[in-house]
Amino acid sequence: MIRFALKCACGHRFDSWFRDNAACEELMAAGHVSCPACGGAGVAKAPMAPFVASAREAERAAAEAGLDIRLRRALLKLREAVESQSENVGGAFAEEARKIHYGEAPPRSIYGDATPEEAEELAEEDIAFARIPWISRGDS
Ligand SMILES: [Zn+2]
Repeated sequence: MIRFALKCACGHRFDSWFRDNAACEELMAAGHVSCPACGGAGVAKAPMAPFVASAREAERAAAEAGLDIRLRRALLKLREAVESQSENVGGAFAEEARKIHYGEAPPRSIYGDATPEEAEELAEEDIAFARIPWISRGDS
């Protein structure tokens, strides 16, 4: 997390937290950053050095934003563990899970996407799988 000092077109100054500099630029360019005082979206970075948060401050900012950073970290760890130990089969998840279950493909750990209908079919066939909250990287 990084904090920038921002300034709106009428000169109000305020601080805002962003994931990183690129996210800040992107959000400002898209007009998603508005001045808390006047609501103006014509926001620019105030001439001040950006402030990189320490872990403690990042946690505080995340708490203010309504996120539990420990939960996000745990989910990110889970994602990394899955990615390092399993094969990504993408949209073919249901098909591959079925093949493994019926011995048509070598037994291994896989992960990927399934539609709700596919997930229901797998469950009906007693094919073991788990849904995990897939957290995007770099949000913490
Ligand atoms: Zn303003």
